[in-house]
Formats: sequence, C-alpha cells, structure tokens
Amino acid sequence: MPIDKETLEVIKVLLAEQAKQNEQTIAAAVAAAIKAAKEPTEIEQRKINAENAEIARKQERRKNLGRIIKKKEAAEKAKKHNCPHMHPITGKNATTYVEQEIGGESGKFLDVYVKCQKCNVLVRPENSFLRETYNGPYCIFDTAIFNKLAAQCMVTAGQDMFA
Ligand SMILES: [Zn+2]
Repeated sequence: MPIDKETLEVIKVLLAEQAKQNEQTIAAAVAAAIKAAKEPTEIEQRKINAENAEIARKQERRKNLGRIIKKKEAAEKAKKHNCPHMHPITGKNATTYVEQEIGGESGKFLDVYVKCQKCNVLVRPENSFLRETYNGPYCIFDTAIFNKLAAQCMVTAGQDMFA
C-alpha cells in the first residue's frame, strides 16, 4: 500500500522527535555516569571526613597552644612586675647593679641595669639604648624602678661587698 504524502510527513516528524528524545536520554545517561564516577565511594568519603576532622583538630590545637604560650608569657611578665626584688629572708634588696660597655670601634655604649637575683629580671632605665633590641619577658624598662633599686643596691658587680 503506497503511503500518501501527508502520512509521510507525520512519520518524518515522529521520527525526528524520537531521535531528539533518544539524544536527550543518552546525554542524561552519560552525565549521570560521569557524576557517579567523580563522586567518592562511601569508604573514600569516610576517609575524606576523617582527614578534614584531623585538620580541624590540628588547627584547634595550634590555636590553643598559641593562647597558652601568650598567657604564660603574660603571667611571667606580671610575676616579674610583682616581684618586690627583695631577698625573701633578709628583706633586703635582691638586685645587683651592673655597668658594662657594649660596642666596638664604631661606637661604645654604657649599658646600665640592675639584675634581680630572685626573678632574674633585668631592670633598665626607660631611655636605655637597648630598649628596642632587648624588650623581652626578662627585661623591664622602667626608670622609677631602676632608680629605686639602683639606689638601694647592696651588691655591685665586680665589687666585694665586705671590703
Ligand atoms: Zn625580682
């Protein structure tokens, strides 16, 4: 039976639609397959989660350690400031007065400080040229404290206190 022109056109349209649908189905199937291949398996996902948790733990630990060190340094500094720099038994000044020349041919400076035998802190006047370089937890730059301790010093370095 011959197919008339009109029926032929309908068949053509139907076939074209079918081809388009097939294309979309294949594209979707390929996309799904690619996505599935990229996604981690349950075991891989568990490993990734464990690694992320470990990184977070390490970061937290580092932060806590930083906080502890800062606190310790602050406590150490506060302790030195609270130290009366007095001998605990005799109640006398526990510092030693020190004068020493620092530098070479380019220039010499006189470093002056008192060292507390109890807390090991070095107290220098505020205008000390070492202020920028030595300003660690074992140094105090305070002219008032320096003057008070230097005036009361029982022992001067290099000097026999019983002479
Ligand atoms: Zn002290």
